[in-house]
Amino acid sequence: MTLSIRFDNSYARLPERFYSRQAPEPVRAPRLIALNSSLAEALGLDPGALASEDGVQMLAGNRLPEGADPLAQVYAGHQFGGFVPRLGDGRAILLGEVLAPDGTRHDIQLKGAGRTPYSRMGDGRAWLGPVLREYLVSEAMHAQGIPTTRALAAVETGERVIRETVRPGAVLTRVAASHIRVGTFQYFAARQDNDALEALTRHVMARHYPGTETVLDMLQAVLAAQARLVAQWMGTGFIHGVMNTDNTSVAGETIDYGPCAFMDAYRPDQVFSSIDAYGRYAYDRQADIAAWNLAQLASALLPLIDPDRDRAIEQATAAMHGFPDLFKAAWLEVFRPKIGLAGAEPGDAELIHGLLDLMAAERADFTNTFRDLAEGRAGAGFRDRAGFGDWARDWTARLGREAATQPEAEARMRAANPAFIPRNHRIEAAISAAAEGDLAPFRRLQEVLERPFETRPGAEDLRAPPAPHQEVLQTFCGT
Ligand code: AMP
Ligand code: MG
Repeated sequence: MTLSIRFDNSYARLPERFYSRQAPEPVRAPRLIALNSSLAEALGLDPGALASEDGVQMLAGNRLPEGADPLAQVYAGHQFGGFVPRLGDGRAILLGEVLAPDGTRHDIQLKGAGRTPYSRMGDGRAWLGPVLREYLVSEAMHAQGIPTTRALAAVETGERVIRETVRPGAVLTRVAASHIRVGTFQYFAARQDNDALEALTRHVMARHYPGTETVLDMLQAVLAAQARLVAQWMGTGFIHGVMNTDNTSVAGETIDYGPCAFMDAYRPDQVFSSIDAYGRYAYDRQADIAAWNLAQLASALLPLIDPDRDRAIEQATAAMHGFPDLFKAAWLEVFRPKIGLAGAEPGDAELIHGLLDLMAAERADFTNTFRDLAEGRAGAGFRDRAGFGDWARDWTARLGREAATQPEAEARMRAANPAFIPRNHRIEAAISAAAEGDLAPFRRLQEVLERPFETRPGAEDLRAPPAPHQEVLQTFCGT
């Protein structure tokens, strides 16, 4: 079996100052841990060839497939609000772009593939924990219909990496619409390199927003994509955890899974990341933070929006002022079906917030509360029966004004409310077992998360919230 990949590396054709050419650094003894066959097939890659000796060597960075043009991308970024003029791929190498049989273009990147000119103090490596975490969470997001980078494969390297302790090294093969970030624009804007800004903008317009004609149109398209994305995160209780501008994809995908987490108990101000001391990236701040990040993009684009700076600012500001409404509309679009609604009425946002307020007061399980609505157990988890009863009366009345029948409403809720999310304690358990050589919990979780809206007899344990002693209170950047 030979591995043939249809590469067409458009980013590598951009000017040299967009990246550093850099081959992956070989590893000692690669071993395949997980391969995403359905994704491979969608990309036009042969899963058998990927799983072969040669394929695994490629996934580990030991052998370059024909047509690859490996490079590390440069970018800047605001990290927790502070601007860093040069970050770049410090532990990830873009092999190239593959053209799928359906005509779509995808970056193939090896994360954990060794040092690059942007590694700073880092070792360019990843350990098995974050690799499996990103694999599980990104694929779970995809299965829920949330735009995201994907996981094609995970390999162990047979090498050790030093973190708090010695850990098994691993490489994740990540697939993305692109890895272009708000920070990529900021990098060139900070250097007042307008030629590069223009080349990057043209690249992004052609690649991600082919319908757009002006830079302002593209900005608006990015705003709409981010608004939808963050609304979808909110709808599944997802907290990204490091919404720095370098972790914000202009293609509108969820990218750079670090200390991200799904909430168990609903707390609007929930934070898991150990490095987010002030709750900058808390669950309910994500829309505001997205707007802040996008304002950085708008600001980077100013010279291209209009040569007259005042006029450019005026137009960019008007676009930014549209963001809250874009987000509110997207949020309603996500949450309405979660309570079974197909139509729209003016009081819907209040109705949904009414339920969220009850959930917050009791720290009700986010996922199970919504799923219970779909499975004929509405309110089963609430202690405040009267409070829930009041809400349920309004809800029933509202459902009664819909054209749909009760079974139709339940089907809509089952399709909008996953039964299974990657719960933190399950991810941690799967990682611990994998680090000891037992991949069974990882595989079981992966399989269930592939079809998160199905009710699966025998997997009830994976739906249960953590017992107090199982609760994960903090997540880590996981580099
Ligand atoms: P993050 O916010 O986790 O996406 O990473 C922030 C920056 O740190 C990026 O430029 C990464 O490439 C870099 N980085 C993170 N971990 C490592 C590592 N182990 N070695 C080199 N660079 C790293
Ligand atoms: Mg990053």
